[in-house]
Amino acid sequence: MKKVAIVTGGTRGIGAAISVALKEQGYTVVANYGGNDAVAQQFSTKHKIDVMKWDVGNYEACQINVSAIEEKYGRVDVLVNNAGITRDGFLHKSTPEMWSAVITTNLTSCYNMAHCVINGMRDRSFGRIISISSINGQKGQIGQVNYSAAKAGVIGFTKALALECATKGITVNAIAPGYIDTDMVRAVSETVLDGIIAQIPVRRLGQAREIANAVVFLADEKSGFITGTTLSANGGQYMA
Ligand code: NDP
Repeated sequence: MKKVAIVTGGTRGIGAAISVALKEQGYTVVANYGGNDAVAQQFSTKHKIDVMKWDVGNYEACQINVSAIEEKYGRVDVLVNNAGITRDGFLHKSTPEMWSAVITTNLTSCYNMAHCVINGMRDRSFGRIISISSINGQKGQIGQVNYSAAKAGVIGFTKALALECATKGITVNAIAPGYIDTDMVRAVSETVLDGIIAQIPVRRLGQAREIANAVVFLADEKSGFITGTTLSANGGQYMA
């Protein structure tokens, strides 16, 4: 039986590369997204991957949609918590709304989704939960107090849940990408981008498929001894 994977934010950027890579490995993939219908439909048609829209920050929406996926495909074996947003600004200029949006979408979403899939994984004694953190959750970043806190939270979430699941055949890991060539990074000015690349020892942005490869590795049945870890993929920019 084909393994079933959910990739949140799986229709664009890093998530799209993860969805495609898992499909190429033989998984049945459902790619979630938050609002960009046109991109999601194009992605679905091009890659023949099912897409489903819901807000991963909303627990009830996660419950309804995970139940629908379990009903249609019978199980969820792999959860990739990838959906994320930024709302940058120095703390003293930021708003409570910016804080809440980033914490909810990047961190609370991991709880929401894991809570919805974990009992099925425990019943079947197999599961892989892989969450996308960030280099800025490891080292902190000016203008990203909210994002750095959320992404550091993902690492703590990963360690604690890995311990809870260790005897149940479920591994829980995080990946901390450095700067990857996606819309999120291209949103900054060219000057800022040049400055970022100058700080990366390999002197280039990462590619989304390089993060996808790391997900495929951690999702593999043969990776069962790797749990609670954070895999850095950052071109040597930060050695945690
Ligand atoms: P993109 O902005 O390119 O894509 C984000 C994806 O998340 C989209 O599919 C988007 O859906 C979805 N999404 C956003 N909010 C929600 C929501 N509330 N519910 C469901 N889906 C949502 O991001 P990236 O590919 O750049 O980043 C992916 C992950 O990697 C994020 O967690 C990010 O923080 C992390 N990361 C990225 C780095 C980078 O350099 N790009 C570096 C380190 C970490 P829609 O298309 O509908 O908007």
